[in-house]
Amino acid sequence: MTAPNPTIAAIATAPGRGGVGVIRLSGKNLLPLAAQISGGKTPKPRVALYTDFLDGAGQPIDNGLLLYFAAPASFTGEDVIELQGHGGPVVMEMLLQRCMELGAKPAEPGEFTKRAFLNNKLDLAQAESVADLIDASSKSAARMALRSLKGAFSQHIHGLVDDLITLRMLVEATLDFPEEDIDFLEAADARGKLQALQGRLKTVLASAEQGAILREGMNVVLVGAPNVGKSSLLNALAGDDIAIVTDIAGTTRDTVREQITLDGVPVHIIDTAGLRETDDVVEQIGIERSRKAVNEADVALVLIDPREGLNEKTRSILADLSAGLKKIEIRNKTDLTGEAAGISDGLAALSGADTVIRLSAKTGAGLDALKRALLQEIGWQGESESLFLARSRHLNALHAAEAELENAALCGNHQIELLAEHLRLAQTACSEITGEFTADDLLGVIFSRFCIGK
Ligand code: GDP
Ligand code: ZN
Repeated sequence: MTAPNPTIAAIATAPGRGGVGVIRLSGKNLLPLAAQISGGKTPKPRVALYTDFLDGAGQPIDNGLLLYFAAPASFTGEDVIELQGHGGPVVMEMLLQRCMELGAKPAEPGEFTKRAFLNNKLDLAQAESVADLIDASSKSAARMALRSLKGAFSQHIHGLVDDLITLRMLVEATLDFPEEDIDFLEAADARGKLQALQGRLKTVLASAEQGAILREGMNVVLVGAPNVGKSSLLNALAGDDIAIVTDIAGTTRDTVREQITLDGVPVHIIDTAGLRETDDVVEQIGIERSRKAVNEADVALVLIDPREGLNEKTRSILADLSAGLKKIEIRNKTDLTGEAAGISDGLAALSGADTVIRLSAKTGAGLDALKRALLQEIGWQGESESLFLARSRHLNALHAAEAELENAALCGNHQIELLAEHLRLAQTACSEITGEFTADDLLGVIFSRFCIGK
């Protein structure tokens, strides 16, 4: 058996060369380690100490700043030391090695943040936002992750839980006085309180769902017959040439992907190779990948060359799309047809799509209308201060709480025990978000996705 919380160490800065490299340590009582590595010095908490970092023979490995944070006033709640040296991979590796000699173990991914959570420095939603901030793929996502890290999302969850506790106390109190239960609950306006709680949960859920759009982004696939302009549209959206555009039908045979950002929302676009039947083995693989991409998409852009209309090729592609997939019909090449570009209200779609947009992938006319339509399809309402960068784990918990509250509202006047139980389950679901009731294996999953040194 090893000690429950050994000192951990990791290179906290990104691999490779950099002006500064940081080694981070967390553990109990790190002052002896600080003295050994600095040649007998005792750092003051939160004051930078300029020092040589020494190896076991007393020879300098590097020099730089040693920062010491005394428990519990640190990120992890334990003693934390940061060694800020020169950011070369060899120097960093030697410094890390020296920390191992002094008894530290290599930190697992997310282990610093996990300790912060276990020592109540952060709740689980805040800990997750640390990873979200590091992984943010747009400025909006980064801003929102920081708000969650500072506790904005957790505060709303705590508010819900507080209301739930108040209501549960009312309901459970009546369980002890069965004769007067109905009068008592009516006098205390239990129904009104439950309704208010449902409203409050709905608001949080709506903000979380918007935030989830920002976190997850959207998946868009381009489908259509060869030569309708899929590659050209992908390039136009991405703003540079990544796919090979050719005049020969069937040249773009692999799946090509690109990520763009629309109003802060990351949008992954995939140009499918066309789902046509073939005996060619390589093309078969392409077809499989296309099918997979199409199945995972939020929206399909169905490209049609208006001069061809709904030809046989397009018909068979449409027949392959699942019925539930949202579609936007793109009538491309307006520069050739002379039609006005933009969203076409009242124009009947040939493909069964709800929206028809005329554009020219060549000139870019109509592209803005397409971008707006994409955001509308996923219900993006724009960034606002009230959004939370929610994960699907959070949405699932909020939906579970919502269902329990609905069940609670359905309870009749003589089902007080059942009512109490639904309210209890709603509270459990909400508390899972901040980590009050969380199984160890879930914690393992959450923190293993962090980078090392965080
Ligand atoms: P894909 O097979 O669907 O990927 O089609 P491509 O993007 O490779 O385009 C096929 C041909 O149509 C190329 O010669 C493109 O330059 C041309 N093309 C694509 N979009 C437009 C457009 O909006 N206007 C015009 N004039 N030509 C286009
Ligand atoms: Zn193509």
